[in-house]
Formats: sequence, C-alpha cells, structure tokens
Amino acid sequence: MKPLLVILGAGESGTGTAVLGMAQGFRVWVSDKGQIADRYKREIETCGAEWEEGQHSMEKVLAADVLVKSPGIPDTAVPVAAAIQKGIAILSEIEFAARYTDALLIGITGTNGKTTTTSLIYHILKQAEWNVGLGGNIGQSFARQVAHEQHDAYVLELSSFQLDNCYDLRLDIAVLTNITPDHLERYGSMAAYRASKMRITQNQGPEQAFIYCADDAETSLALSEFKPKAKTYSFSPRNQARLGAWIADGCIQLNTDNKHTTQIDMKDFTIRGQHNQNNSMAAAIVAQLVDVRKDSIRESLSHFENIEHRLEPCGKFKGIEFINDSKATNINSAWYALESMDKPVIWIAGGVDKGNNYEDLKPLVRQKVKMIICLGMENIKIHHAFQSDVDMIINTMSAKEAVHVASRLASSGDAVLLSPACASFDLFDNYEDRGRQFKEAVRNL
Ligand code: ADP
Repeated sequence: MKPLLVILGAGESGTGTAVLGMAQGFRVWVSDKGQIADRYKREIETCGAEWEEGQHSMEKVLAADVLVKSPGIPDTAVPVAAAIQKGIAILSEIEFAARYTDALLIGITGTNGKTTTTSLIYHILKQAEWNVGLGGNIGQSFARQVAHEQHDAYVLELSSFQLDNCYDLRLDIAVLTNITPDHLERYGSMAAYRASKMRITQNQGPEQAFIYCADDAETSLALSEFKPKAKTYSFSPRNQARLGAWIADGCIQLNTDNKHTTQIDMKDFTIRGQHNQNNSMAAAIVAQLVDVRKDSIRESLSHFENIEHRLEPCGKFKGIEFINDSKATNINSAWYALESMDKPVIWIAGGVDKGNNYEDLKPLVRQKVKMIICLGMENIKIHHAFQSDVDMIINTMSAKEAVHVASRLASSGDAVLLSPACASFDLFDNYEDRGRQFKEAVRNL
C-alpha cells in the first residue's frame, strides 16, 4: 500500500503539500481544525486527496507515515504531541518539498528583514532572467510549485517555525538577516531561538554559502555556538568584510572571491533606511554568488517597488508625509524605522506588547520624535517609557482617530510614522488590516 501523508492545516502551504504529495504517490489526508477555504477544498479534491475540517481525527493522524504540519501549529497541540510520542516523522512543507526538487535553493531567515530580503533577491534574479520561484512564508506554496513548475531556483522566506521541522534540508545559499528578541513566548529563551534560526545552515558544507550580518550581537553568539561548516560571507554598513559586502563612498562594496571588489552605487536605490542597506547588501552578495552582473544588480535595486506595510510612503497632506510601517511589530524593526527618518516625527505606536523593553528606543525618540500617538488598548508602558522624552503622548483607539489627531498636530515638513513595535490583535485583525486602515484614513483626509 502507498504510504500515508497526513497534513495538518489546509492553508496555502498545506494545500500545496497535498498537491505535491499526490504527485509523488502518497495517499494524502488533510485535516484542519477550522474551516477550509473553498478554493483550497476544490484544489485538494481535484488532486485526489481527502480532507476533514472542524476537527483532527486522532486515529487517522496517528496512522500517518509522514506528517506535514502548518508552521503555526505548535508541538504542544494535541495531534502533534501524540504523533511525536508515536515517533511519526513531522516535517515542514519546506523540508518535504525540498526532497523532490534539484533546483538551486536560496533560503532567508532572521528576526526582521526576511520578506524584504527575499523579495529583493527574487526581484534581482527575475530581472536577470532566471527561471526562479518565490516561496516559503511568501507568495505561492513552495510545494505546489515543485509539483507544477520546473524552476531552476527557488528563493524561500523561512520563519523559525518552518525551520523547526527541517532536518535534511540543505540550502545552496542561506541568509540570516539578524537575530533580536521575538517569539520568546514560543521558544522560552534566546538560546533556543538562536538555535532555531541556525537550523538554516545545519546541513551546509564548504560547497554552500552562509551569509550573515557581521554587526549583530546575537548572530555572533550563534556563530560561536554553532560554528557553521558552510563558506561564510558577511555584510556590515561599517566594517570591511573579509568576504561579503560593506558600504563606503555611497556604494555597496562587494567582494565574494577574495580578489576583486565591485562597487554598486546606491544613489538610486528605491528603499530607504539603514536596515534596507543591510537587506540590499545581503541580496547583492547572493546575486554575485550566482553570477548576476553588477549593473544588473544596481538596476534591479533601483527599480524595486516598496513592499506594502514596510516603510511604505502613503501620501502627503498639507506638507505632512505619512508612512505605513505596520509590519514593525517588535522593538528592533521600529528602531530601524525611526533611525531612517530625516524629518521631525509624529510616531504612532502601540498595540499588543510582546514583552517590549523600550529602553533601546529612547535615544532615537529624544532625537527625532515630537510626539507619540498611542494606537492600542493598553498604553501605560509607552507612557512610562517616554513621558520624559517627548512633549505629548496621546491615546487613540482607531487608525482613523490616530491619523486625524496626527494630521491636526503635525506641521508641514513633519513625518507621521506608523511603526507600532507591537502586534495588532487588540484593535485589528492583523498587521495588514492595521496598515490598510491607516492608509485609508490618510486617503480620506
Ligand atoms: P520580516 O519578514 O522578517 O518580518 P520585513 O522585511 O517584512 O521582515 O520587515 C518587517 C519590519 O522590520 C519592517 O517594517 C522594517 O521596518 C523592519 N526591518 C526590515 N529589515 C530589517 C533589518 N534588516 N533589520 C531590522 N529591521 C528591519
């Protein structure tokens, strides 16, 4: 009898896995505790897999030869815990799909900058006319693409939750953008979180490349703990890298062969901020490793369209600029957003605090922020943290109210920055909803 593939969670990744599982000769059964979206149901049925919704039938789950679970389901969830106890192999979609492709695999992880860096690399390769797919946490499921497309390369955004169920995955090129505190409710300690991130390089050898940020303290710690065997390249805005990228004279300096240094002029780059310089350096290293020409890299980085909710300019009103950085859901990302501002800032912040320590933001707030508009149910920590740093802190309960207050109190030449440093679930469905409501309120001014 054919082996049974059980898939927990029928979203984009689970459905793609079902399609690939059927194509690879498994019997496939998909189980979702919630309701499965109609389009996914149709796709699951069309490929010949079976499904259930509203429950996980334990008997069937435990009959699995291989189990692929959605990254959002923790190991403590009842069916997963039972499967672990029974010794069933539990894989992520990425691990499963990578078994069935010989394409070049480029994976990106890190606390912040994953989506941006992944999109930059994909954009550069596309412009250089590579036959390349985009997957992981972004776009179409990697597994579905492996089943239906014949890409020569994949650029994959990998969250630590996805990496946790990767075992044999060997990336040709791995990028770790940075490691700063996040998701500690799931990992319990920074050491465990670092270990999860370093899984991205666990099976790499000297033939593969590992790219990291030389200035990131947690990454340095992780490197000393895990000693990757891959060939390493680093990037830094300040210090010249032995191999990798750094910045001097307004250019990215690239040296990936220990012989030549190539300059890429950053003058026309479309995305701003020091963090995006880091992301661009990481992407440029990848591009040079796969032999994309320097002019092509520069061209691509000069025509990259900003991604929604990441320092996204969203209009001007009476000389006041509005910027949507709703995706900044932790301290580090808000730090980079504030750092990138070159005008006086009205800062809209707050939401669900994930154990934030606001200390690191105080110097930037003192230097750049005129007033803070809190957008959240619980704002007391923000008041305590910054009451001595800014003239005014105002509470608001909706994006519309926040934008309205900001537009009245800001002056021409100011920037109103939504960069909350917090999750959004108190007042919004998710960070996208928060960002869209913000943009709509700006449009309606
Ligand atoms: P991720 O996919 O890892 O969440 P994104 O690329 O979506 O990262 O960016 C999320 C937020 O993090 C953005 O709003 C931006 O302000 C910030 N950010 C982006 N790149 C970096 C980086 N390299 N270092 C620190 N913060 C960053």
